[in-house]
Amino acid sequence: MSIIGDNYLAVQKNIDEACAAVGRDRKDVTLIAVSKTKPINELMDAYEAGARDFGENYVQELVDKIPQMPVDVRWHMIGHLQRNKVKYIVGKVHLIHSVDSLRLAEEISKESVKQNVISNILLEVNAAGEESKWGGSLEETIELVKQASELLNIKIMGLMTVAPYVENSEENRQVFVKMKKLSVDISEQNIDNVTMSTLSMGMTGDYMVAAQEGATLLRVGTGIFGARNYNK
Ligand SMILES: *Cc1c(COP(=O)(O)O)cnc(C)c1O
Repeated sequence: MSIIGDNYLAVQKNIDEACAAVGRDRKDVTLIAVSKTKPINELMDAYEAGARDFGENYVQELVDKIPQMPVDVRWHMIGHLQRNKVKYIVGKVHLIHSVDSLRLAEEISKESVKQNVISNILLEVNAAGEESKWGGSLEETIELVKQASELLNIKIMGLMTVAPYVENSEENRQVFVKMKKLSVDISEQNIDNVTMSTLSMGMTGDYMVAAQEGATLLRVGTGIFGARNYNK
């Protein structure tokens, strides 16, 4: 087994333990290997250890990688998405996590109608209200869900957040609790065309806490592939 494969299995084991600690069904939590900036051979190391869900941030990199990986990979677009790039990924990805405005949702809808596909999306929430982050506030999100739910050929599957960078993962526990509560609140409104089955939160520094608090998708990059080098 490669080092990356070993890392992948170690992260999976940590998730097993986090779920066991709170009595969560392990099958409800999926690990996404976040592979931005990493070469295909490293993605294949993770693939061979069992990874089938991969997350990418940049449209060009994602589009380049798709044909180079086995067809059973589920691709997740997790990075900030510009409207003029939507056309390159609709029909190619399993889930778009980073829908942070009605205008972006409208563009995804328009392109999905054109291609005659349904696009699964998450709405991004700026749960801690950080200035540097994308997404609406907790309060704005319900309104965005309602408006986006009217659009054709998109399906709102749930919510996503990028929690603050913290030294101690416990500092983010309340962020994850708030996200889970918001997802339950929205789900109770029974909005047509909306399920809140998916909650994408938790990264290398805090994925175990996120798993304990209700995440269904964990996005882990550094913990699997090691540090990223953006200058290569
Ligand atoms: C890069 C990235 C991740 C992975 O971050 P790590 O800290 O390396 O695990 C997760 N989510 C998003 C949106 C990212 O951009």
